[in-house]
Amino acid sequence: MSVCAKCGGKGFYTRRYSGETLCVGCFGESIVEKSRRTMAKYRMVRRGDRVGVAVSGGKDSLALLKVLHGIRQDQGTELVAISVDEGVAGYRDEAISHARGLTSELGIEHLVLSYKELFGFTLDEALDWKEDREVSSCSFCGVFRRRAIDEAAAKAGVSVVATAHNLDDYVQTFMMNLLHGDVSRLGWLDPAYEDDSFPVRRVKPFMEIYEEEIALFAYSSGLPLQSVSCPYMHEGLRSEVRDWLDELEAGHSGMKNVLLRSSLDVITNYGSASRKASVPCSNCGNPSSGGLCNVCRMKAAVEQHINYRG
Ligand SMILES: [Zn+2]
Ligand SMILES: [Zn+2]
Repeated sequence: MSVCAKCGGKGFYTRRYSGETLCVGCFGESIVEKSRRTMAKYRMVRRGDRVGVAVSGGKDSLALLKVLHGIRQDQGTELVAISVDEGVAGYRDEAISHARGLTSELGIEHLVLSYKELFGFTLDEALDWKEDREVSSCSFCGVFRRRAIDEAAAKAGVSVVATAHNLDDYVQTFMMNLLHGDVSRLGWLDPAYEDDSFPVRRVKPFMEIYEEEIALFAYSSGLPLQSVSCPYMHEGLRSEVRDWLDELEAGHSGMKNVLLRSSLDVITNYGSASRKASVPCSNCGNPSSGGLCNVCRMKAAVEQHINYRG
């Protein structure tokens, strides 16, 4: 039987890339410790920060809330959970109830904002328009979700928003940008990125932790799992990139870690220099690359379609 390298207890998980075996307790502590180190390295939060935690209700975001809650006193931060209800019948309701359950258990303030109240339509209503368009459901939804989180952050009075993006998400996004020939967008991935034209800082405390380990942490902490996945989930190229990276990792343990380090090197040496300056949207004043921002552009298209359909 394998034993924990830290305390000699019963082995629970072995990190293939390092060979280290840990018991449940030491594994959980290693996740908290790793998040804390990442946050310190990139100065993600500062003493006195009121931190908005984006909680979709999925396992990663519940795990993030639990970890940040555990270290909030040491870090001198105050937490507010932020959830966005896109309006996907049967799917988001379950996730939001998981988020409500954990926030009330931990005694954390919880703000829920919906697409309907912010934009005038639910994702269910909007996606009827979107069918056959080249933009995928996930990138369409993501444009509105980022705005909704900014609005929620303003409402909650937070200076920084933490999201549960993990190492896998990070390297996938890096590869996606390369495959789309979108090198000018790499600067957004810089963990130390700050842009005064954006109302809040975005930080990713899990960006150096494998998705597999976050899932295991959520499971071993007894966090609820969603029973349904998003009916619109269709990520196209991203799922191919995910499978490809998983395959590489299976054959060469630690490959994702190496790719993360390389991405960070590229981003810090090239990304920030290539970053395009943003200008205020001519309609809503939020940052855009010129003219209307993505939210206003897509919102207009959806409204036109909804009115036309009558
Ligand atoms: Zn142990
Ligand atoms: Zn706008």
